[in-house]
Amino acid sequence: MTTLAFAVAATIKHDGRGGIADLLCTPDEAHGWLREHEPQLADVLGAPLPIELGRFLRPFREEILPTADEAWRELVRMRGAVRALFARAVAPGAPSKADADRLMDLQDALRAVNQAADQLGTTYLDWADEPYTRWSSPAEDPIALLAGAVGRSAIDFLTGPDRRRLRACPAARCVKYFLQEDPRQQWCSPSCGNRERVNRHYRKRTAG
Ligand SMILES: [Zn+2]
Repeated sequence: MTTLAFAVAATIKHDGRGGIADLLCTPDEAHGWLREHEPQLADVLGAPLPIELGRFLRPFREEILPTADEAWRELVRMRGAVRALFARAVAPGAPSKADADRLMDLQDALRAVNQAADQLGTTYLDWADEPYTRWSSPAEDPIALLAGAVGRSAIDFLTGPDRRRLRACPAARCVKYFLQEDPRQQWCSPSCGNRERVNRHYRKRTAG
């Protein structure tokens, strides 16, 4: 399972036609995306999710809550911070082409991630059937919990062993970050690799 921060970063992708697709264009899309990523949220916040957040994710009769708008903005802001840090984590000069020219300033990105994570407080030990950890967070605000989960996930990812495997796909029409499975993997997917091989072949022929 990919981590929450990685999944948030991946909501900007290529649309398959040379453009960029944003999976978080509206509050509605962001809400749907968050519901799909409950396992990743629970991975950071613990399961079951805090009650307020659970309520936000499953609104009564599916109506979109007024907080959905605020949650959307916060999620997009956190994504900006995560992508700015990812751009810095990959080899120098090789960030995703989707937003390389409009990245959040490093200090702003660090502040966004740290302040969000701070809202979760610290972990403490609890005991149900088995011992488990819980955040000490006094925050019942679902938006603080969401942003906190993304922030915490980003910190864990960037300081963990997976950071060294983070790459931006260099294929012409791809803007994806991916985790390199082995040191020779160059492209995010076989389809990007195939497309690039065809492009190179074509360029060689037209050059010669
Ligand atoms: Zn790719």
